[in-house]
Amino acid sequence: MKLKGYKTIEGIIKIITGLHIGGNTSIIEIGGRDNPVIRHPVTKEPYIPGSSLKGKMRSLLEWKLDKITSDGDVHKCNVLACPICILFGTSADEYERGPSRLIFRDAVLSKEYKYACKDRDFNWTPIDITEEKYENSINRITARANPRNFERIVSGAMFTFSIIYRDIDMDNIGTQDFLRYVIEGLELIEKDALGGAGSRGCGQVEFRIKTNNGESSPQGILNDLITNKTKLDIYFPTEKFDV
Ligand SMILES: [Zn+2]
Repeated sequence: MKLKGYKTIEGIIKIITGLHIGGNTSIIEIGGRDNPVIRHPVTKEPYIPGSSLKGKMRSLLEWKLDKITSDGDVHKCNVLACPICILFGTSADEYERGPSRLIFRDAVLSKEYKYACKDRDFNWTPIDITEEKYENSINRITARANPRNFERIVSGAMFTFSIIYRDIDMDNIGTQDFLRYVIEGLELIEKDALGGAGSRGCGQVEFRIKTNNGESSPQGILNDLITNKTKLDIYFPTEKFDV
């Protein structure tokens, strides 16, 4: 079992409709928000945890590949070449497939986005990129509104993401096929939603992935593959000890 190298898929996540990924509600501050977004404890900048991206991608790919069982539990199986188990990992005591191949970094606010906000308003800080969203549930008989609120990152905000694939020389599915699952996973997240309240307008995002000629959407990269039947057009910045 030999590590051939790392292939890092990099790009931008653009928030299309407000994103809510919950933070720590146990710290009660006077005047604090009810359902805050997760933030870096020092800089107070909101970020998108790698675990959120990983969890959403995994669950959507499990649905797409028909790996969901009636109990709704996280998928696990004994199929040696199962892409879900190889890419995202399984429980301990399973050695045959090797380590899980994917690493999801936390996605942080993009420098370009911060500079653009500063250009518009000198006093802007990263704390300013959230809004308070109010919603009501209505009692069906009395028509009385029962309000609730939560914090969400405003539309237009941009984060940089990176997903790292460990290229290990034991795979019985090709590297290109594994990478295609990742791109398909990103496309599924675009069609679905990230974070909370996805069925109520929140969490629509777009991905721009670095390619050898600039950047592309997940759909663009997959279309390219169908049309040209070549390798996936992804730019890999850290191909250091690839063979
Ligand atoms: Zn499996």
